[in-house]
Amino acid sequence: MTHWLNVALPLPVHTNVARPLTYRARQPLPAGTLVRVPLGQRTVLGIVWEVGIQPPDAALAPRIREVDDVLEALPPLTAQWRALMAFVSGYYQHALGEVALAALPPQLRSLNRDQLDRRLRGKWLAALSESAFAGVVETPPALTTQQARVLQQMQAQPGPFLLHGVTGSGKTEVYLRAAQRVLQDRPQGQVLVLVPEINLTPQLQRRFAQRFGEDAVAALHSGLTPAQRLRAWLAAHLGRARVVLGTRVAVLASMPQLVLIVVDEEHDASFKQQEGARYSARDVALYRGHLAQVPVLLGSATPSLESWHASTPVAEGGRGRYVRLALPCRVAAGGVAPELPRIRRVDMRRQPPGTVLAPPLLAAIGERVARGEQALLLLNRRGYAPLLQCPACGWKSECPHCSAYRVFHKADRSLRCHHCGLAERVPRACPDCGNLDLGMLGRGTEQLEEQLRQALAQASRPDGSAVRILRIDADSTRGRGQLEAQLAQVHGGDADVLVGTQMIAKGHDFRRVTLVAAVNPDNGLYSSDFRAPERLFALLMQAAGRAGRSGLDSEVWLQTSQPGHPLYAALKRHDFAGFAATQLEHRAQAGLPPFSHLALLRADARTQQVAQDYLAAFAARTRELLAPDPALAQAVMIYPPVPLAMQRVASVERAQLLLESRHRQALQRVLARCVPLLRALRNTPAHRRVLRWVIDVDPLTF
Ligand code: ADP
Ligand code: ZN
Ligand code: ZN
Repeated sequence: MTHWLNVALPLPVHTNVARPLTYRARQPLPAGTLVRVPLGQRTVLGIVWEVGIQPPDAALAPRIREVDDVLEALPPLTAQWRALMAFVSGYYQHALGEVALAALPPQLRSLNRDQLDRRLRGKWLAALSESAFAGVVETPPALTTQQARVLQQMQAQPGPFLLHGVTGSGKTEVYLRAAQRVLQDRPQGQVLVLVPEINLTPQLQRRFAQRFGEDAVAALHSGLTPAQRLRAWLAAHLGRARVVLGTRVAVLASMPQLVLIVVDEEHDASFKQQEGARYSARDVALYRGHLAQVPVLLGSATPSLESWHASTPVAEGGRGRYVRLALPCRVAAGGVAPELPRIRRVDMRRQPPGTVLAPPLLAAIGERVARGEQALLLLNRRGYAPLLQCPACGWKSECPHCSAYRVFHKADRSLRCHHCGLAERVPRACPDCGNLDLGMLGRGTEQLEEQLRQALAQASRPDGSAVRILRIDADSTRGRGQLEAQLAQVHGGDADVLVGTQMIAKGHDFRRVTLVAAVNPDNGLYSSDFRAPERLFALLMQAAGRAGRSGLDSEVWLQTSQPGHPLYAALKRHDFAGFAATQLEHRAQAGLPPFSHLALLRADARTQQVAQDYLAAFAARTRELLAPDPALAQAVMIYPPVPLAMQRVASVERAQLLLESRHRQALQRVLARCVPLLRALRNTPAHRRVLRWVIDVDPLTF
């Protein structure tokens, strides 16, 4: 007997057949089964999506191909998991098959039934014992009163929860206890823990492994080898991993026994996927919690304004959708609770022009180092100088392919574009006029490191030896394991002063850092991006959180030309709530998120005109389509196409068009019509030259 089924396949959204395709099978296969099916000349991995469908009509039936192979050793993906994929596909306007298949470990795509069976029988998976969790293996510390109260609140309500806890307030302990409770209550239960960045996983993984045992915890992120990733995914899918800890991709992992979701540093922009389906792992986590009817716990010292607003009671002007939990104080270490660091603003207008590090700041760094403490200097630009220029003719080190300058890197004497990767040796003379004296504009971490070395040449460590300076940024950590090695140097006390980009501001538990300085934070005050102040505040709060975790008195220095700016004033008071209230007021007045919902349509082409024409045609056609539904047409604002802030990257011109609505549903209804329209338009002769289009729902970058 023939069984007809629809199989989800990794077909891109741009093709005309992005739906699941029909196949025949000789045996009945439950939905969710992984199969290998013929597609053109290839055999590809697919997921049985619908079964028992109407047989195709007689004319078509002979052309429908048969499933090649069934990966029977794996239990089918659950209906709940498939519903999650359907949501991500629908909400973010991306082909279902692509979303679902991208959520599987890449290695699974190339394994046939026998190879998979061998893997499953192999030692490497068997090592994850069936009962990977046998209770806590480490005695937890006694809870603080605050922590106990938070956990009690969590027990009394279904959530979702937003845990607002200052840095060092013991949020991780709350995650551990909440996890412990459900793992003990539910013998099969699984906990999903999301972190924004790969380099924060080892630290958290260690804490979960110490508490629940190595075998109970699986890490899932893109830094794993294909084999490790397959193993972790299988451990989650087979229910053997009781805790799955990972970056955004982990939110799509198959976890049949999910009982709790934790999203640490929920405000972090890294949770937003920037290619393929542009999902927000935090938002997907919330939806997943709703689907599975399990609590979701978001945690941050600086929550996103979206989450803050959602957790503000209706009576106070918020939405009252999440329960807000608070850990307002740092945890006491040895009796005394470490104070939050003192915030000091240095007025750079009063320093001699060209001052890099103000003398009082340098003196303070020297004192800290002399006491055996560490200092951390933050500058959000890597390289030596952001651009070179010729004072004679005005030549600048523009990238020929991007609307950006190439950055001077002194270490290898190169000019590098951080957008397209173009790298060349720095020219000896101006390429335009031959002038030998090229000048530099601005400063990056490389230069700061060099200047600091000179400035601290006279300073010394407690034993009289020279100060050790360590730079940590994307350049210093390019190689595998380099970041870990550098962080170990910091933890081991083998560095006195750290210079780095935001990479070092987040999450790390640096015990001996007592001084943090933001060298030039003002840029974030002037950006055209409406989220820039929110990001700057979060970054500085996070950076401040690196200071004084051990209980030593600590301080944060801000070098600014705007010492009176309200953002810095709020920071000085450690007043996130005050800052959030002001920002939300602005956003409400301007009708920006969370008071409206946005989607971006982006088009790439060789010329800006081609890209914009396409978007303009789309806008015109959409207005026509919406004309019969004036309510919907009114509810969604369609803006004219404009170039992106970064207009050209790698010789591709980029244009975008913004859709905005007060109502998520209305925006979704319009978006649902976009994909077929964008696809059809691009197939017309007028728009063939459009290279690609992209939909970004709830965009974070503009
Ligand atoms: P956060 O994640 O909020 O920044 P952590 O969870 O890292 O804070 O906690 C800060 C420090 O306090 C850590 O060293 C942690 O081990 C310690 N800590 C947390 N809770 C307790 C507790 N109940 N008793 C003792 N120490 C604790
Ligand atoms: Zn010149
Ligand atoms: Zn470039």
